Amino acid sequence: MTTADPGIAAPADGGTAALAAQLDAADPLAAHTSAFVRDGDVVSYLDGNSLGRPLASLPERFAGFIEGDWGGRLIRAWDEQWMERPFALGDRIGALVGAAAGQAFVGDSTTVLLYKLVRAAVDAQLKADPARTEIVIDDDNFPTDRFIVEGVAAERGMTIRWIEADPASGVTLQQVQEAVSERTALVLLSHVAYRSGFVADLPDITAAVHEAGGLMLWDLCHSAGVIPTELDAAGVDLAVGCTYKYLNGGPGSPAFGYVAQRLQGSLAQPIQGWMGAADVFGMEREYRAARDLRGFLSGTPPVLATVALEAMLEVIEQVGIAAIREKSIALTDFAEAALREHVLPHGEEGDRAVLASPPAGPHRGSHLTVTHPSFSAVNAALWEQGVIGDFRAPDGIRIGLSPLSTTFAEVELGIAALGEAMRAERRRAS
Ligand SMILES: *Cc1c(COP(=O)(O)O)cnc(C)c1O
Repeated sequence: MTTADPGIAAPADGGTAALAAQLDAADPLAAHTSAFVRDGDVVSYLDGNSLGRPLASLPERFAGFIEGDWGGRLIRAWDEQWMERPFALGDRIGALVGAAAGQAFVGDSTTVLLYKLVRAAVDAQLKADPARTEIVIDDDNFPTDRFIVEGVAAERGMTIRWIEADPASGVTLQQVQEAVSERTALVLLSHVAYRSGFVADLPDITAAVHEAGGLMLWDLCHSAGVIPTELDAAGVDLAVGCTYKYLNGGPGSPAFGYVAQRLQGSLAQPIQGWMGAADVFGMEREYRAARDLRGFLSGTPPVLATVALEAMLEVIEQVGIAAIREKSIALTDFAEAALREHVLPHGEEGDRAVLASPPAGPHRGSHLTVTHPSFSAVNAALWEQGVIGDFRAPDGIRIGLSPLSTTFAEVELGIAALGEAMRAERRRAS
């Protein structure tokens, strides 16, 4: 799919370079871009959707944690705050995704949380109705989501019903309606497609899944912290999301899970550990799950890995998710205009780069993907110049725009460099 018309028309005079300067000057969130570490050789960071930049305040924050909470309070800090930390941070993330308190927690990696929630959901469904043997997922979902479903389906003798998603847009309501039935146990979809940036119709799809008697699990990895979501209002059952993408928690910071209040007592997750037990320090002989959110924990929470996340949550809470989404839209619209100026028009007919993302509007998330057969080599050349997007096989460069840390000028610089590198690669290859 190519996009019909740009969200922002490239100005006739001065091009997108002049427009970038205007947009940065008028950006109400501009001051935040200098709150992040910007040292080193990177001149354009277009991958904040994959690994957010660190806040510049982190050295001080970590020192305070090491000297105070950890070094000073030592094991007393577990009672004082760390036992509650997964839920305290969960409530704050929950507020960003439309979840009332007591339904979100910070836990394991996204992959492990997906496993726990997928298993919990299908086990409950099979128990209630052994004919619900299907898990629905799309073939363009992120690998870990598909692999987890593949594994659970094999463990439980279930069938996967694949939705064939358009890689340049995403899963539609109609496709979900056609895929679900009285055999559906669970539907797992990404709110924002990791490749195209397509924003799925979360409320209507959730309703369609419920109408068929299925449970709905949303993966919010590419929307948490950048696109407002209303999990409670939409009646979503389960959700997971990353904290190292738009929540800038740092490499390996733990994921969050959401389990709707009404399901907490009836779902049982498969990784039974002492932290999920009803009486954590009871040291009981047999496992007895906590019937609230604690039952979804397994082992000791990764407290150290949540220090940066907490710092970023403070910034996001101060700015507000609506203002963040507004800048995200301005950045993606601008990136499209810059692509139209520097990248899309170049090359012979049949050998042009293609914008493989939805048009401007509510279905566009915070990243764009452009495709061209030369992009594996082009991306490698860009990385050497400090222009950091990411390559997604087979031929896509993804331009991720993290609103709080990204300037319009660096988007302009990066996309101009992409056009230049594409032309250089064409000359080299001919
Ligand atoms: C980034 C991402 C993940 C990452 O999973 P990890 O366990 O944190 O490695 C999972 N799903 C989606 C859709 C993602 O975008």
